Amino acid sequence: MSNQIETVLKQEQLSEQDLIMLLQSDKIGRNKIFTHSSKIKSDYVGKRVYYRGLIEMSNICSKSCYYCGIRMDNKSAKRYNISDEEILKAAKFAHEKKYGSLVLQAGEIISPVFTKRISNLLKQIKEISNNELGITISLGEQPDEVYQEWFENGAHRYLLRIESSNPDLYYKIHPKNDKHNFETRLACLESLQKIGYQTGTGVMVGLPFQTYQDLARDLLFMRDFDIDMCGMGPYIEHVDTPLYQYRGLLLPIEDRFTLTLKMIALLRILMKDINIAAATALQAIDPIGREKAIKVGANILMPNITPGMYRDDYKLYENKPCTDEEAEDCTNCLEMRIGITGDDIGYGEWGDSKHYSKRKEL
Ligand code: SAM
Ligand code: SF4
Repeated sequence: MSNQIETVLKQEQLSEQDLIMLLQSDKIGRNKIFTHSSKIKSDYVGKRVYYRGLIEMSNICSKSCYYCGIRMDNKSAKRYNISDEEILKAAKFAHEKKYGSLVLQAGEIISPVFTKRISNLLKQIKEISNNELGITISLGEQPDEVYQEWFENGAHRYLLRIESSNPDLYYKIHPKNDKHNFETRLACLESLQKIGYQTGTGVMVGLPFQTYQDLARDLLFMRDFDIDMCGMGPYIEHVDTPLYQYRGLLLPIEDRFTLTLKMIALLRILMKDINIAAATALQAIDPIGREKAIKVGANILMPNITPGMYRDDYKLYENKPCTDEEAEDCTNCLEMRIGITGDDIGYGEWGDSKHYSKRKEL
């Protein structure tokens, strides 16, 4: 097996079967994959981590994804909506700390009022940071003209996970109705790419009913879609969600963690110059989970700069880390943590996807 892994890793292209074999590799095989992906990362994007200060601006959502703790039908979630003043204060903090970029994330709301609010926030964030803060948004599925408006107002990266590229699995983890439609999600990703966003997607790893073939196809989906960025994390169950009833089908949590690291490493091998985030959910499983992801191929970290009082309520899954901290605590702790990976931090840099720049040159 171990020799076979070395041979496969030397190939120009990886097939679905190769990827399945690599995803199933044992500890020795896994370490070979990690050594290879780590070298590719250092050769193609360098040993540098870029920050995206994450503002979880609201947990109000009109959808009811079966896995998510802030789904509309979860009546025990305490809802919040951070004021514009608080968002701008967090943006100022990120700018002063030279974070380079921000991510605005929230539950999915489609309304003219919400569209305007985001447009105004984008303009104001650009203004208070002298155009220095890069802005990623992750606000779900929206009409094309809304994506266009936000792009024109300063958002230049968008994160919309496909969650699973297999429509059958997609409909096992979402209700089957107009609001949760696989084709619509795909069309949104296409629209974002067409408008000119650096387009990011990703999947959850270790979902109930998910197979190794699904994961291999997810990787190939991302390659074929030609994404610029990826945010991919382990699925972690939440007690107040419908998917919780299938927890007996799940891989042990440590295996979901290792499998996520393998997915990150394999994506780095497949897509050498994209940006890959070390998802917060990794840290919910292993205290140095994100640092491990950085070692095997991730190059983006999203320090949570949501005001501390709201963090506990953006509870997508159990054991969400740092919900009792303030942004300042995170900064000090993170610098030390990145230090152990051997990477440095791209302070004050946007750290745009190199893949995107190349794609645009063509
Ligand atoms: N509402 C937007 C959307 O769905 O694209 C953005 C916010 S949503 C909370 C961000 C991501 O959280 C989702 O894409 C999903 O992959 C992830 N997520 C939700 N519930 C999760 C869970 N139980 N375990 C791991 N990740 C989860
Ligand atoms: Fe809403 Fe996003 Fe959670 Fe789905 S994953 S319920 S869209 S916040």
